[in-house]
Amino acid sequence: MGCEYCDGTLVAKKVTVTHRWQGNLVVIENVPTLVCQLCGERYFDARVMKKIERIARSKARPPRLLQVPVRSYSRLAA
Ligand SMILES: [Zn+2]
Repeated sequence: MGCEYCDGTLVAKKVTVTHRWQGNLVVIENVPTLVCQLCGERYFDARVMKKIERIARSKARPPRLLQVPVRSYSRLAA
């Protein structure tokens, strides 16, 4: 099976996914996926997508928190 956009080779990798759930941003690490070696497109299997949803909704205390800078595209950095 190749990439549907560029026909590149897909390789199994663990990636970091950012997911939005009810206005909250959740970062999920070590998600198994197939990544195109040419264009970088990621292919998640349906079971993995469902598990991402479940993890994003989890009420359990996360092992760590990230502080993320938010910037506007229209503002030029000095
Ligand atoms: Zn590709």
